[in-house]
Amino acid sequence: MNLIFLGPPGAGKGTQAKVLEEHCGYRQISTGDILRRHVAEGTPLGVEAKSFMDRGDLVPDDLIIRMMEHELVNPAEVILDGFPRTVPQARALDALLVSHKRGAVAVLFDVDFDVLTERLTGRWTHPASGRTYHAVFNPPQIPGIDDVTGEPLIQRPDDRPETIRKRLAEYQEKTAPLIGYYDDPGDPRLVRVDALAPIADVTRQLGVLVNCAALLPVASA
Ligand code: ADP
Ligand code: AMP
Repeated sequence: MNLIFLGPPGAGKGTQAKVLEEHCGYRQISTGDILRRHVAEGTPLGVEAKSFMDRGDLVPDDLIIRMMEHELVNPAEVILDGFPRTVPQARALDALLVSHKRGAVAVLFDVDFDVLTERLTGRWTHPASGRTYHAVFNPPQIPGIDDVTGEPLIQRPDDRPETIRKRLAEYQEKTAPLIGYYDDPGDPRLVRVDALAPIADVTRQLGVLVNCAALLPVASA
């Protein structure tokens, strides 16, 4: 089952996508990570996207849709992390799913906005992999250092409070309408997870949802 991770910045989508990628055979497609790679490499797309990202605005739909057109060719089950983020993107994704004869379920990370600023200002990111940590809720073994590679972690420039406010406003205005898009009574395609819960609890909820043996509690004899 292909998954669309839906929820505001800081809800925990990337954290959980990495766990499902490592233990359950999914491939994470994070539009934010792809865009940051383009920005770092200075590609034409990166140059165009950078000012939107720096301000906390969404990147225009046509750029994102073009970027995503080739991503579903690979038949591995995917987690779309951060896409779609607008109704036109969701419509474009539906067309792509039809043309590739694939289905997808949207997973809404249900969370109170109150916790998001603390999650995002405490986030530490390993740029090359997109792995994230949190200073309090999921600290690396050595502060400022990625557990896997030993490379330095960074704080994303858009994880500053003033940019976070803009990103949350963008989410409310442009992305939250997707909840109704996928929770259509005629064709419900949305499930919810309690993303206020601690990281390991959210992982357990997802393990049950996708029936991934590695994430399910071992039954006691
Ligand atoms: P998203 O991909 O939805 O923007 P992330 O997965 O990067 O969010 O998580 C944002 C920050 O919050 C990270 O620092 C992460 O370690 C932390 N985090 C993720 N899930 C939880 C959780 N359930 N409880 C507390 N902190 C969390
Ligand atoms: P993220 O890493 O998901 O928090 O995304 C970081 C930034 O990349 C966002 O604030 C947007 O500027 C941009 N971005 C990522 N995904 C999309 C998308 N699907 N549509 C538009 N902009 C996006």
